[in-house]
Amino acid sequence: MRIADEKVDIPPSASATVMTTKLDPWGAVSIEDYSKLFEEFGISSFDAILPQIDDPHTYMKRHIIFGHRDYQLVLDAMKEGKPFSVMSGFMPSGRVHLGGKMVMEEIIWHQEHGADAFVAIADMEAHSVRGVSWDKCRKMGIEEYVLSLIALGFEPAGHIYFQSHSSTVRDLAFELAGSAHFSELSAIYGFSGETSVAHMVSVIMQSADILHPQLKENGGPKPVVIPVGSDQDAHIRLTRDLARRMRKFLVEDRNEYVSVRGKAAGPDMIEAAADYLLENGCHRLKRYEEHIDVYDAAGAQDIEELVRRFEVEEGGYGFVPPASLYHRFMTGLAGGKMSSSRPESHIALTEDPKEAARKVMKAVTGGRQSLAEQKKLGGEPDGCSVYELMLFHLSDEEEELQEIYEECRNGTRMCGTCKKVAAERIKRFLEEHQRGRKAARERLREYGL
Ligand code: SF4
Repeated sequence: MRIADEKVDIPPSASATVMTTKLDPWGAVSIEDYSKLFEEFGISSFDAILPQIDDPHTYMKRHIIFGHRDYQLVLDAMKEGKPFSVMSGFMPSGRVHLGGKMVMEEIIWHQEHGADAFVAIADMEAHSVRGVSWDKCRKMGIEEYVLSLIALGFEPAGHIYFQSHSSTVRDLAFELAGSAHFSELSAIYGFSGETSVAHMVSVIMQSADILHPQLKENGGPKPVVIPVGSDQDAHIRLTRDLARRMRKFLVEDRNEYVSVRGKAAGPDMIEAAADYLLENGCHRLKRYEEHIDVYDAAGAQDIEELVRRFEVEEGGYGFVPPASLYHRFMTGLAGGKMSSSRPESHIALTEDPKEAARKVMKAVTGGRQSLAEQKKLGGEPDGCSVYELMLFHLSDEEEELQEIYEECRNGTRMCGTCKKVAAERIKRFLEEHQRGRKAARERLREYGL
């Protein structure tokens, strides 16, 4: 019943990015080749499920979102009108740039498609990992992230919260911590004897962020998708493991029957679970001391849902392992990775629009050394930061992108032309976005902030 992870070819638009495989949520990230993420970490190809989405987000259509874990569960809920959530978080330790905008847009798209949306401002992480003071966390969380999120279209029906203000998330983190071990945190994140305990706590807080939309009070358990950059996969894997560990039952499809095994449930609870299944239409079952075998025609998914409901009624969590979407990183304007700590590499959403345009005019492109060489050999739009600006943020037209790509490759387009178009558009986008941010400031109360 679990969606099989598929090994696939690299999406054409992702294959050009050459990096080394190291997923480090706090370090400088470099990923050698996205196909390795499919092979080494079991991330599935997004292309394989794209045809099921009637009106995909631009990032989906353009293969910028290239991978997922268990997104089928979210798609099914979306199509069947069942509850599902989208959740992601932002660490308020620097200016929000175009990379943050990508996550915000993905959250908003899911909200528009029926998700109950949750956004964490990860102030406990910023404080423990980056040493940002609480005052600054608060200021930066609102000024940088929340205003942009609202300006981009996040609706007040969703939930924006600061980690340190949510006793629900902190309580859940404490529960999850009981199932997490130092050895695995050390293996995943490289924690050592020198790592502060607060840093470790912040990791568990993030797992609690991801899982708390599934609490009973939030309408859970239910599928939840986490849109992230692929460097955040370590958090997702840990949280999926914790979600499974918190279950009282393990439901397995054995083809002829479905096995419901008590993981953290004694014989009495297994007996009660069998009664619950009987009451809810599963009449052909065999009871054993440690498990129940269900032979009814109901699919494993339906039986899993019944068992989750029972588990929640008995005070458990019944968590569904969280799903995730992975997007490509943009190339930095100065070459290499776009990074918050290198202002010349990125464009912040709060940046002076003229300064942003100036950065674009100075950006490293995939162009050749001279005009003559460019005309002769053509440019290299794959990995060109200006082309990526158009692809990720500044062009709504597939035909326009196709034209730029082809003209670049065949040497009839020069970088100056692209830069002028991109500089003008980024300036206009920022002017408009910053007007939206001003309006958002007046609406903070609607969001409980
Ligand atoms: S012509 Fe345009 S797309 Fe091609 S390398 Fe130059 S800036 Fe990039």
